[in-house]
Amino acid sequence: MTKQRLLIYKIVSESCCHPTAEMVYEQAKSALPSIALGTVYRNLNLMVEDGEIRRICIPGEPDRFDKTLAPHGHMLCVRCGKVIDFPVDALDRNIEECTGAQILSCNVSMQVICVDCLANDDFKGSVS
Ligand SMILES: [Zn+2]
Ligand SMILES: [Zn+2]
Repeated sequence: MTKQRLLIYKIVSESCCHPTAEMVYEQAKSALPSIALGTVYRNLNLMVEDGEIRRICIPGEPDRFDKTLAPHGHMLCVRCGKVIDFPVDALDRNIEECTGAQILSCNVSMQVICVDCLANDDFKGSVS
C-alpha cells in the first residue's frame, strides 16, 4: 500500500462527517504537501472498488466517502451540509412487510434540517 493511500484511508476513517474528495485533499495536503487532487480521487476510487470505504451519491452534491460499511442511510442537512447516518433496519423491515420483496441492499439518502439547525431556529424564534 502506498504512503498516499494509507494517508487517505486514515483521513476517511478518522473523519466523522463523510468527507468529499476535496475535503480529503485539503487534509492530505497538510500532511503531504506534494499530493495531487488526482491522486486523492484515484485512491478513493480504488478503496471503494476494494470495499474498504463506501461512496455515497447524493443527487446534486459531490460524492462523499464513508468509513462505515454496514448498511445505513444518510441524511443531508440542507442548512449546514452535514451528512448524518441513520439505521435502515426498521425501514427495511417495513418496506419488506408492505411489498413482500426482500431487500438485498439499501441506498437511502434524504434531505433534512438537522437537530442542530432546528435548535438554532428555535433559539432565533425565541429572541425575536
Ligand atoms: Zn444542519
Ligand atoms: Zn455513513
